[in-house]
Amino acid sequence: MTSSSDPQRPPSPSSGAARMEKIVSLCKRRGFIFQSSEIYGGLNGAWDYGPLGVELKRNLKDYWWRTMVHERDDVVGMDGSILMNRAVWKASGHEETFTDPMVDCRTCKARLRADQIPQKNGVPQCPNCGGKDLTEPRSFNLMFKTYVGATEDESSITYLRPETAQSIFVQFKNVLDVSRKKLPFGIAQIGKAFRNEINPRNFTFRSREFEQMELEYFCRPEQGMELLEYWKEERLKFYENIGIAREKLHVLTVPDAERAFYSKGTYDIEYEFPFGRQELEGVAYRTDYDLSQHQNASGKPLEYFDEEAKQKFIPHVIEPSAGVDRTVLALICEAYDEDTAPDDKGKQESRIVLRFSPRIAPIKCAIFPLLKNKEPLVAKARAVVNLLRPHMNVFYDETGAIGRRYRRQDEIGTPFGITIDFETLGERGDEFRDTVTLRERDSMKQERVKIADLVQLLIARIS
Ligand code: ATP
Repeated sequence: MTSSSDPQRPPSPSSGAARMEKIVSLCKRRGFIFQSSEIYGGLNGAWDYGPLGVELKRNLKDYWWRTMVHERDDVVGMDGSILMNRAVWKASGHEETFTDPMVDCRTCKARLRADQIPQKNGVPQCPNCGGKDLTEPRSFNLMFKTYVGATEDESSITYLRPETAQSIFVQFKNVLDVSRKKLPFGIAQIGKAFRNEINPRNFTFRSREFEQMELEYFCRPEQGMELLEYWKEERLKFYENIGIAREKLHVLTVPDAERAFYSKGTYDIEYEFPFGRQELEGVAYRTDYDLSQHQNASGKPLEYFDEEAKQKFIPHVIEPSAGVDRTVLALICEAYDEDTAPDDKGKQESRIVLRFSPRIAPIKCAIFPLLKNKEPLVAKARAVVNLLRPHMNVFYDETGAIGRRYRRQDEIGTPFGITIDFETLGERGDEFRDTVTLRERDSMKQERVKIADLVQLLIARIS
């Protein structure tokens, strides 16, 4: 008897696990994401971005910054330190409560998240060894503890920040004073965060070191609920604008019982990953909790002075908090596709294609001389590279048959390919002199374009 869980049988190609396996393998093969410290056996929950991954990640962060900061009058940015005074984490509540309940398996010694233990016939069972001898849940703080300075004692303890938000709250007054913004206004930050996750899993989805893109949008209390809706919609538009289909995004209204006690409303924006529907971003109305905590603990005023009402009050805040790494993973999962394309002899062959939005694709355009041993073709192709390079990330490739070169670019999601051929050199008449073939990755359609028009035409398609 065979079943879908039969270990002899390869997983069905359409299954999420098989798709994920192909994605992970492509990420390594083409230099998007590598295991950290791989030659030493890796480090669980830590990942390195290779030459293409770093471009993708950078394009994502730049687009977030552009839409959340540069294109708005009401948001400014900051870049806070990862190490902060321990008092910050006491006041924010992280030292006390940033914990996951954990259970140890006495049989295989695995440490497991209490909320992720499967049950068999109503009895909790270790997912590693099937053992039923489990400890009671205990709290485990997710912050990485470290020591500042030469002595390792109680007075030198601090933590690697588990979120970027707190540096925004503790700098609220400084930023307000220098930017002279009026409510509502926001402070944005992109940066590393660290959580000692108990079970890092699903590739980069749950890592121990990751990056966040966070906005703290301060407002009057009466604006809070309306702005929560506004930011949820804005964030959904953002994901659509980077190429994630709306039907793959879901908004979960976090139920009262699962929300932080100070939050008046929280949405989770989820994406349908191949391993299931999971959170990409949280949009939370955090009231005045954070600023009040820091004002009380530090004794320093963190209030806003309302000129018209001549009144001081602590602003409320809406926080859209997104994960860079999770979004990069969603972008790759969304882009991954397999179809067929003709080879150099016109025969259909299967191809892997990453259908990235041109806006976030790591390389925007690849440039190919038809033949590498024809000096005038190579010189012209190099000239096109130099023409485009100041405007976008381009890639020059002269090796192999042209079909193979297209295929290599399809696999890394390059939206445009330019071929310089004998027509470009004017060898087939003046009509096509200084024109090139521009090929589009998804439709594979080719058009003849003047070199002089390339910059303008491509910029319009990638911005
Ligand atoms: P989860 O429930 O998945 O642990 P969370 O609700 O604790 O996430 P938040 O504290 O709201 O996450 O953090 C905001 C965002 O930071 C998340 O939506 C996610 O994109 C990202 N993030 C949080 N933890 C991790 C992690 N361990 N690895 C990668 N990204 C993370």
